[in-house]
Amino acid sequence: MTTTQDTLQTRYSEPGAPLSGERIPLCVPCMGGGEWAYIKECLDTNWVSSVGPFVDRFEQELARYVGTKYAVATCNGTSALHLALLAAGIEPEDEVLVSTLTFIAPVNAVRYAGAWPVFIDAEPDYWQMDPRKAVEFLETRCEWRNGSLRNKATGRRVKGILPVHILGHAVDLDPITAVARKYDLTVIEDATEGLGARYKGKMLGTLGDIACFSFNGNKIITTGGGGMIVTNSEAMARRAKYLSTQAKDDPIEFVHKEVGYNYRLTNIQAAMGCAQLEVLDKFIAAKRDIAASYQEALGAVRGIVVQRERPETFSTFWLYTALVDKDEFGMDSRFVITRLGELGIQTRPLWQPIHLSPAHRSPWQPECPVAEDLNGKAVSLPCSVGLRPDQQKRVVTALRSFGGTDQRV
Ligand SMILES: *Cc1c(COP(=O)(O)O)cnc(C)c1O
Repeated sequence: MTTTQDTLQTRYSEPGAPLSGERIPLCVPCMGGGEWAYIKECLDTNWVSSVGPFVDRFEQELARYVGTKYAVATCNGTSALHLALLAAGIEPEDEVLVSTLTFIAPVNAVRYAGAWPVFIDAEPDYWQMDPRKAVEFLETRCEWRNGSLRNKATGRRVKGILPVHILGHAVDLDPITAVARKYDLTVIEDATEGLGARYKGKMLGTLGDIACFSFNGNKIITTGGGGMIVTNSEAMARRAKYLSTQAKDDPIEFVHKEVGYNYRLTNIQAAMGCAQLEVLDKFIAAKRDIAASYQEALGAVRGIVVQRERPETFSTFWLYTALVDKDEFGMDSRFVITRLGELGIQTRPLWQPIHLSPAHRSPWQPECPVAEDLNGKAVSLPCSVGLRPDQQKRVVTALRSFGGTDQRV
């Protein structure tokens, strides 16, 4: 059994195993060491299903880590987003501003709530939702009518902003929360990729009205599958918990006034979550170390742009991503992905910006040229917490052999 201790030790101390042809995955889970004991406890005590002491403990410990009053565990991050939108008062036919450069889950969740997404472009420096473009949309393409903000093109009520903190970096949230206050909009943070990252000293997930995390297999910590809603609002937390447990209205009788969901996390998954949470800070340190090594090795290569940390933020560099400029590097991002794949190195592109997705396209959608440009250039590189220095060296050596002169003399 490999524990984190062993893996991290390997990362920091091993002089470099011979370069083998072993496959290097993009981003795989790393066990913290406590998982076996905690999961065994579930099996020994028969608390294996959707209630149990580890569920409560995981909720409490995650809330404490992030710094919110409440946390509600769910079966995955997508269900957390769905419930967060409902708990935040998003209603059918409302509109919600959402980052276009994102994994599709938050956009699907907006549709599950019966609401409609308005996609906001990314900014070119840190690739997050561009607050200037969000504000511009609200100020120029919406109007205040009868106590609510309306999209002039559709007549629908604009009720929320859902910024997605992508890749372990923070959205520039101050201008977004300011404009949300001005127009009475709810801010739902998708912090599923940003657990442990901070914005101006505050943990992501504490800056809006309600926020979501995911513990899917490739996230910074994992429960196999799982999610969490965090908020300081007791009403929102209660509502999310209620909806996640089939909206049961009586502690004994099976009486339901509303349509609910079965979105609970199991005690076994929560047990794993408790163990993973114990090593989260070490995982973050490992991710940042991997990022620093990539920066050092690739930062000066012509045609490659490495990811930077926004001033006044703390990034986890959850999924390390670089931009490849075809003209300057001499090879485009997709070819880089194919060639690295042939060498046993798993990489992948970023998501198609969702405003282009056939599932979510709309005719009145604002343009998002920056996200489209980033999508053409981005390549996510291997960055598992347990990635060994010799493996990382193999990635870097392969990449540098394809093109792009080192601009350092
Ligand atoms: C992973 C992820 C989610 C939620 O994922 P689940 O697989 O449902 O846990 C939501 N949003 C983003 C941006 C993600 O990366």
